[in-house]
Amino acid sequence: MITSKLPNVGTTIFTTMSQLAAETGALNLSQGFPDFDGPQGLRDAVVRHINSGHNQYAPMTGLPALREQVAAKVARQYGARVDANSEVTITPGATEAIFCAVQAVVRTGDEVIVFDPSYDSYEPSVELAGGRCVHVQLDARNFSIDWQKLADALTPRTRMIILNSPHNPSGALISSADLEQLAQLIEGRDIYLISDEVYEHLVYDGVRHASVLANEALYSKAFVVSSFGKTYHVTGWKTGYVIAPPALSAELRKVHQYVNFCGVTPLQWALADYMAACPEHVEQLPGFYQAKRDLFCDLLTPSRFSFSRVAGTYFQLVDYSQIRPDLNDVDMALWMTREHGVATIPVSVFYQTPIPEQRLIRLCFAKREETLREAAKKLCVI
Ligand code: PMP
Ligand code: GLN
Repeated sequence: MITSKLPNVGTTIFTTMSQLAAETGALNLSQGFPDFDGPQGLRDAVVRHINSGHNQYAPMTGLPALREQVAAKVARQYGARVDANSEVTITPGATEAIFCAVQAVVRTGDEVIVFDPSYDSYEPSVELAGGRCVHVQLDARNFSIDWQKLADALTPRTRMIILNSPHNPSGALISSADLEQLAQLIEGRDIYLISDEVYEHLVYDGVRHASVLANEALYSKAFVVSSFGKTYHVTGWKTGYVIAPPALSAELRKVHQYVNFCGVTPLQWALADYMAACPEHVEQLPGFYQAKRDLFCDLLTPSRFSFSRVAGTYFQLVDYSQIRPDLNDVDMALWMTREHGVATIPVSVFYQTPIPEQRLIRLCFAKREETLREAAKKLCVI
């Protein structure tokens, strides 16, 4: 019998719920992905590049034209001056970027702080590096960082902190004041950061995303990760990037070149073309998704779910205490899928120690208007 290196890991909740949705024919608001396509110009560009011979390995660090577009974008958005050659690496998805950043830094016995509820890929990456996650709970009311809890969790073994803003699953944002506070807390310590900013362009109500790229002190120790999948409605392309200072990028690339070597070539060409031709795409995204959030929330107002509109991401958390307080959230998600035809994600799976009285499920609103209307109709009669 093989002894598992990841004894606590099973099939992810995203696979489980998407499979159940397919089996039962439920509307799938569980796993986060759009039910519409990315821009036509972007899809046409992939076909063009496949047909013009861009089908062999890309450079290990990513196509120069795409790295330059990323550097130009972060200069425009965050005033960050990063060198496309030595600081930007294109990866096959943000997941691979996070994995490689962890492997590059974390050693046996190191501690990595994650904030619960936390995204599911962080802990297995840390464990495979021989490290241990220390789970610090976010404030249960608004999912903000409890600075005292964080200060208390720091030890001489703390090697890394993983931030995620906009935050999956809550949609909460970290502010630039939060980043200042964090910079003070870790000043002079040998601690690195991963800043998972895959939802960087999905921030609503006129708020600007506070990127670690805009905080010099933090950036000097950080791997900042994003995903073209979220930004261009193409999650299945599994293409992302990581920006880190040259010395950190060099270490990350040592891992990346043996985990995957490079990202998919024609996708990188197409993304580079599209970013050059359509820089306004990212400016239009907040409005595009805010309209979906508002439509969905307006439609849910007559329902028995309670919620406050999310500040970012394409997920809306809703509280079902008025409906089935007797069910825990996993059972609620199963019941809703089987009996009411809407698949969702229970929030407790993002916790090491779930909060027993919490009654929250996550709904993905990256959907066409007709899907949102149909889902809301079903949700309003539960
Ligand atoms: N981090 C978070 C918080 C996410 O929600 C996702 C989406 N799956 C990822 C990372 C991974 O992104 P990708 O699909 O580009 O690997
Ligand atoms: N990030 C997506 C979510 O939160 C899931 C991606 C996956 O299935 N690994 O729904």
